[in-house]
Amino acid sequence: MQKTIKKIGVLTSGGDSPGMNAAIRSVVRTCAYHNIECIGIYRGYQGMIEGDFKEMGPRSVNNIVNKGGTVLKSARSLDFKTPEGRTKAHENLLKAGIDALVVIGGDGTFTGGLLFNSEFDFPIMGIPGTIDNDIFGTSHTLGYDTALNTVVEVIDKIRDTASSHNRLFFVEVMGRDAGHIALNAGIGAGAEEILIPEENLGLDRLLESLQKSKASGKSSSIVVIAEGDKIGKNVFELKDYVEANLPEYDVRVSVLGHMQRGGSPSCFDRVLASRLGVKAVESLLEGKSNYMVGLQNDKVNLTPLEQAIKGKSEIDRELLRVSDIMST
Ligand code: ATP
Repeated sequence: MQKTIKKIGVLTSGGDSPGMNAAIRSVVRTCAYHNIECIGIYRGYQGMIEGDFKEMGPRSVNNIVNKGGTVLKSARSLDFKTPEGRTKAHENLLKAGIDALVVIGGDGTFTGGLLFNSEFDFPIMGIPGTIDNDIFGTSHTLGYDTALNTVVEVIDKIRDTASSHNRLFFVEVMGRDAGHIALNAGIGAGAEEILIPEENLGLDRLLESLQKSKASGKSSSIVVIAEGDKIGKNVFELKDYVEANLPEYDVRVSVLGHMQRGGSPSCFDRVLASRLGVKAVESLLEGKSNYMVGLQNDKVNLTPLEQAIKGKSEIDRELLRVSDIMST
């Protein structure tokens, strides 16, 4: 017979993202609502190995719904990739009386969780937290919407200076394997072209597009580039290439970097985090394990962790066409 769950542990792992705190708060308060205990585990799986635990009552998460980052801290734990590390983590969970885990992070976090479950039959529920939106089984990961808003706000500012000096700006945004941020923020910010990992635009097409834009009377342009785009040149090499081929352009580069991960979560991310936290805890209480809670067609539902890890979160190709039309 399955064990009754009386105490749930929660951790954040991998890269932090805005909305993780709102998810921690939701897990803690849902536990309190159902009269079960909640234990915060610091620094992801590393804290599990070191027994870095703290009891969390509903008042312990006051005033964090609006904060970026994660109050539980995050870490990338190499020790957790070893059987010894995971055994130690399991011993610590048993010692603390923890019966189930909610892990908030990306696909690495889910891979570790699934392995842990297969070794110790320990109930696990995942919440997708990463700004890249690159997880299968959810239309939105925690932090993605906030990152989009941050990027659009910054590009709006860059546009002010671009248009004052007739400049072309290359703006590099996060997205090593997925172009969700570049594509959506690019359309939202009115980019001339958008370079993403999923589609190689090609150098010729980029030059052609920039020439066309100049000829059509545009005095300044913004090109949004995902860091993992497949054009074959990094953003600085691309600047040199474009200036060599189109001397009429004065190109500037802006690499947005880690600022995209910070900041107060958007209302969308706060609501999403609250919904996902409730579903994660209640699913564990119903005896479910090895799922990720996510958003599909605006409904919160479950995807097996294995599928969430293996599946690919596809971009909406219609957005590429919309972007093309918008740059007419
Ligand atoms: P992000 O998308 O921000 O990179 P992530 O969850 O994918 O987030 P990772 O660093 O890949 O981030 O994974 C987080 C942690 O999960 C790792 O530091 C490690 O402790 C654990 N982990 C990842 N892969 C494995 C694995 N194959 N076996 C055991 N643990 C793993």
